[in-house]
Amino acid sequence: MRMNETWQRCQEFHGHSCPGLATGCRAAEAACDHLGIEMEKSKDEELVCIAETDACGVDAIQCLLSCTLGKGNMILRLTGKHAFSFHDRRTGKSVRIVSKHHDGSLSREELTDFILNGPVNEVFEFKETTAGIPEKARIFRSGICACCHESVREDLLRIQDGNTVCLDCFKPYPGRWNRKAD
Ligand SMILES: [Zn+2]
Ligand SMILES: [Zn+2]
Repeated sequence: MRMNETWQRCQEFHGHSCPGLATGCRAAEAACDHLGIEMEKSKDEELVCIAETDACGVDAIQCLLSCTLGKGNMILRLTGKHAFSFHDRRTGKSVRIVSKHHDGSLSREELTDFILNGPVNEVFEFKETTAGIPEKARIFRSGICACCHESVREDLLRIQDGNTVCLDCFKPYPGRWNRKAD
């Protein structure tokens, strides 16, 4: 029953129902169970999610747990796997939740239903986290690009002809450093 309401919220946020969204929804619930926390909004950065996919599932996690890109507690580490790691900074507990492979015999609707309501250990594998806990979001200074005069986060500036420039104005010089000295 609680799951129904939770699933409803995910669909409202994401715009449609799909197996990927269901995976994120169930993973959020499973993460709360494993970490021993309530499904509550992460007001600050106390709960961190490292998503290995940028597909539909991340929306459910952003919506339900408030691990968001903007706050810096949703980190994309693209491996193309349907896997999500969760770290609770308050307790130091963490878990990596990996979707089990589905053989394609179920329809989209059946698969969505299975992911949401099937036995959790048939939907996911629970593993130790591999990546360490990321540092908290940093506040950076800004610099002005000498070319386009737009303001840019300091660590993303490049130096070109003695001026600091943004990535759009920077002309990369690939490969030069790989050549042997002649
Ligand atoms: Zn979707
Ligand atoms: Zn520029």
